[in-house]
Amino acid sequence: MLLQFPSQTGGEVDLKKSYDAVIVGSGAAGGMAAHALTSQGMKVLLLEAGKAQDTSKILHSMEWPYDHPRRGKMPPDYHALTTNEYNFRQGAPFPNSPYSKVTSYIQGWGQSDYSKTLVVDDKQNPYTGTRYAWVRSRVVGGKTNIWGRLALRLSDYDFKAKSRDGFGEDWPISYSDIEPYYDRVDEYLGISGHPENLDYLPDGKFQRPVKLSYSELHLRNSLKGMDRVLTPYRAGVTTDGLKHNKYRSRCYGRGACNRHVGGCDIHAAFDSPTGLILPAMETGNLTLRPNSTVYEVTVDENTGKASGVSFIDSDSRQSYKVKAKTVILAASTLESTRLMLLSKSQKHPIGIGNLSGHVGHNFCEHVMGPSVAGFMPELVGKERTLDDGRPGGFYIPRFRNLKTKSDFLRGYGFEGGAGCGMTPGTAFSTSGFGVEY
Ligand SMILES: Cc1cc2nc3c(=O)[nH]c(=O)nc-3n(C[C@H](O)[C@H](O)[C@H](O)COP(=O)(O)OP(=O)(O)OC[C@H]3O[C@@H](n4cnc5c(N)ncnc54)[C@H](O)[C@@H]3O)c2cc1C
Repeated sequence: MLLQFPSQTGGEVDLKKSYDAVIVGSGAAGGMAAHALTSQGMKVLLLEAGKAQDTSKILHSMEWPYDHPRRGKMPPDYHALTTNEYNFRQGAPFPNSPYSKVTSYIQGWGQSDYSKTLVVDDKQNPYTGTRYAWVRSRVVGGKTNIWGRLALRLSDYDFKAKSRDGFGEDWPISYSDIEPYYDRVDEYLGISGHPENLDYLPDGKFQRPVKLSYSELHLRNSLKGMDRVLTPYRAGVTTDGLKHNKYRSRCYGRGACNRHVGGCDIHAAFDSPTGLILPAMETGNLTLRPNSTVYEVTVDENTGKASGVSFIDSDSRQSYKVKAKTVILAASTLESTRLMLLSKSQKHPIGIGNLSGHVGHNFCEHVMGPSVAGFMPELVGKERTLDDGRPGGFYIPRFRNLKTKSDFLRGYGFEGGAGCGMTPGTAFSTSGFGVEY
């Protein structure tokens, strides 16, 4: 199914009318807002800075690695955040480890020749400040076009963490408030997983789980009795199919998911364009305008409330103002923050919604740590299996600071995978040539 947006250029935006809502950004958050509001009959304008791209055509999951001149790698002159830089910017704990020398088979975080048009080129669009890694996807659907598909639920260990360890603040909501919405999202978008009945990683409404490989099963069994659980990758992928969505297919296990980090040309993995935006368009209540970079939230001078947004067409450079009763910023954490800070007015002199002065501060990045790899000795020399074709391997949820206390706060989880792949990751990091290799 090709992604034929009814209005590739956004069609007519009515600059005179006041929309029920204008949404800025069409990724995970913007797509969901568009879907939820249009299904209730609201007239919604969705403004997206990037262009519409048809991932059904560009991700090539059926291409053999050897049919690509660089096995999927980007051209040498193309620059995006590489895995090395990603680790470096995050202050990788082991800068001299062999891992940090690997020039990564995905080339960059979120990058390959297939997905390069979906991710912002860091050289063309540099950023400064404290070291952090910022992968940007400026395209209809945002980062859902490349996400790694791991779809986990938060629990009261997250929402009420302060009550457990005394640090930070508890959220004003708890898991029981949000659980029915998680359920609805799982059923609407599809998620694969295996129930484990853990209160710190609640189960979802799962479709068929991915099958653990021999080594993964071995690891799962070896963790028993250690208060650690290895569960099949909880993937935001429909493995059984979705009768209500004609744009998405169930996963056929074609096994090219990691070629683009994420991204799925048959849309078994959730992406906002096929999962949310196209269905929202079918209601007749949604106008999507790509190429529309919002630069300010406008404010009603009397009430001080948001009255709409100003945006610039990134091709013609022409500016427009559009009115709406509700303004939803879903331009990703950092871009939404920037927009709030840019939206200064008499009533909001240091940016909209910034009475506290905290907007743009206290940013906490998604920190990634080191990785380990190993071989299963008993499988060396045995007949190969083919364990590809799964949207992920396994996940080991947090096990620190649950029953016992460590000398640090809270915890971390592990993503991993084991098995024989058609093009194993180790092939890229193993040194030598010929027999030595
Ligand atoms: C490589 C990679 C792997 C990931 N893997 C996982 C995973 O396995 N599991 C998981 O839970 N999460 C994962 N994530 C994170 C996940 O993709 C994001 O958390 C999620 O997409 C954020 O949604 P969002 O709507 O806030 O932003 P986005 O999805 O980034 O969407 C924001 C949209 O706003 C648009 N925009 C920005 N500025 C403007 C503007 N001024 N005007 C108009 N439009 C604008 C952008 O072009 C973009 O389309 C991954 C991310 C990356 C990069």
